[in-house]
Amino acid sequence: MKNLTKNPKLTVSFGFIALITLIAFAMTACKDPTGSTDLCDSGHDFQFTSTTAPTCIDDGFDLYTCSRTPSVTEQRNIIAKLGHVFGSAACPNTGCGIKYNYALGNIGPGGGLIFYIAPDGFNVEGYTGTTGSFAQYTAHYLEVAPANAAVSGQRWGLASLGTLIENGLTNYADATAVSTAITDGVIGNGRKDTQIIIAELGTDVEYAARSAAAYTTASNHTDWFLPSITELYFLRQSTSAVSGMPTSGSFWSSSQVNASNAWRYSFSSPGGFDSSIKTDAFSVRAVRAF
Ligand SMILES: [Zn+2]
Ligand SMILES: [Zn+2]
Repeated sequence: MKNLTKNPKLTVSFGFIALITLIAFAMTACKDPTGSTDLCDSGHDFQFTSTTAPTCIDDGFDLYTCSRTPSVTEQRNIIAKLGHVFGSAACPNTGCGIKYNYALGNIGPGGGLIFYIAPDGFNVEGYTGTTGSFAQYTAHYLEVAPANAAVSGQRWGLASLGTLIENGLTNYADATAVSTAITDGVIGNGRKDTQIIIAELGTDVEYAARSAAAYTTASNHTDWFLPSITELYFLRQSTSAVSGMPTSGSFWSSSQVNASNAWRYSFSSPGGFDSSIKTDAFSVRAVRAF
């Protein structure tokens, strides 16, 4: 084993090279924007800049900025994130307001099943129009009705309505656009889109968006909606963790393709989205964002 003994000289050499490399890096790490002058050769001159208070989900800190090179900053005096204070009232920590602490599959406040959890929250788009209005808000959960809408197999739109619904309705012109939205996790538009569709199609007949919005439970929540195609994707992804979810059939989304088609999601294994004629009949599952 003698030949495996470390050579002290070699170790020193490596240590020395590492030290020189470190010093060289430190000396070049703070240059002015042109890179021509080492403004911080003599070291950074950190000055206190601002204080960011901790929140439920992010650490707080004092920000220091090098007076020689303002792009060089350092966080000091880190204060650990607070964590949520869950209870019957909203979390009292500044800027939070989360009220609940649900796990996947739990029964939500609307009597549905929790299928999507966003600890950092997501934006639910607001709506102002002929069917009413609601302000944009931050939600942390999506819950899904435990059963399909009463009428099984509903159309998305009317045969007579061969036009593109505009007025801000989410529109994915092709499968690539849907895939990108799923990859980017674009959610929070289904509630607003449901109202846009109802405003356009009226309330004389039944169709998917109207049926979803009319879903109600003993909890009296009236903010159920037809999920967007991305929200349906996340519902399909959760089916193994949430009991009682559909494992077959296709469900309409509130996302449009073009004047004649809308997006639906197949829950049969392995599942996937597809474009269909708006007058085709598919299942409807209402969801809530809160
Ligand atoms: Zn500096
Ligand atoms: Zn909180």
